[in-house]
Amino acid sequence: MNITTQILRGMDQQQLAQLIEEQSISPDLELLKAARSIRDDVYGRKVYFRGLIEISNYCKNNCYYCGIRRDNRQVSRYRLTKEQILHCCQVGHSLGFHTFVLQGGEDPWFTAKRVADVVSAIKKEFPDCAVTLSLGEKEEDEYRAYREAGADRYLLRHETATPAHYRHLHPAEMSIDHRKQCLWALKRLGFQVGAGVMVGSPGQTAKELAQDLLFLKELEPHMVGIGPFIPHKDTPFRDEPAGSIPQTILMLALTRILLPHVLLPATTALGTLDPMGREKGMDAGANVVMPNLSPTDVRQLYTLYDGKLSTGEEAAEGLKALTQRILAAGYQPDFSRGDYKA
Ligand code: SAH
Repeated sequence: MNITTQILRGMDQQQLAQLIEEQSISPDLELLKAARSIRDDVYGRKVYFRGLIEISNYCKNNCYYCGIRRDNRQVSRYRLTKEQILHCCQVGHSLGFHTFVLQGGEDPWFTAKRVADVVSAIKKEFPDCAVTLSLGEKEEDEYRAYREAGADRYLLRHETATPAHYRHLHPAEMSIDHRKQCLWALKRLGFQVGAGVMVGSPGQTAKELAQDLLFLKELEPHMVGIGPFIPHKDTPFRDEPAGSIPQTILMLALTRILLPHVLLPATTALGTLDPMGREKGMDAGANVVMPNLSPTDVRQLYTLYDGKLSTGEEAAEGLKALTQRILAAGYQPDFSRGDYKA
């Protein structure tokens, strides 16, 4: 099959679902090629590096898929101090990073004031760097405080745009409506915003994935995080199968085609499930990697899913190896801020 990108962009949910169904085992090579060339047109062969700092694994939520959910008593909980976070940034900056991503569970200890204080300290010490936050759902005022402190970007995967499927993945106290409201609020506040999904999450079919693509088109985020679902042994979804690599690759390519300008990571989950996952992601239009800058002694505590990579090429220590792999795959490692190109 050889469908033009123009046709793809006009597809409704049913058409997209059919295409996803047909191509999930083995995505069409022409489609991957189209995604690559769109990425090349907008961003060239650059692959942007972001330093990931996992600031807390405390979480008040109980998402059925996530290893750091509230009810998981097997995890020992940690949170980094402001000094520790700044130290991670110092290490990262000396390695050349110009974006720091602060991610964590929804930890009430990190009040708006505390987060704003950390953000402004980072921006003061590293004015040439972008700060990305990924701390979950907050009220608009809290997001505003982050923004006023200098935060540039916010990652909040919508997880699934379909209400019934959202309820299948989350307890009743969470809702897709609130999550979407958060994303719209973040856009209004002027953040570069990231949404996204896990591919192969329990209960997901091609229909849900098609709906996700349509929601992404409507939201027009600056970044989209897409990785395979991977079960975690201490969650209700422990016996569920992991998402598939080809379907994840297909979703990356479709996202690139529908949203040509988006910043699209080859995610850690993709690299965890497949040793060549990152390369496959880049060959489907991805252009971001996020090596781990968290202190080594807490990394194994931030286990969202079993086997999550946090050492070797996934880590700051393995940066040389990762840059070499990216070069070998025909891409250009890029350590600049790597802002969205409108
Ligand atoms: N608390 C923040 C950060 C969540 S962790 C928030 O709510 O945004 C970042 C992402 O990891 C989640 O959005 C989810 O899509 C992904 N994730 C969580 N558990 C996972 C699993 N078992 N397999 C794959 N990805 C997972």
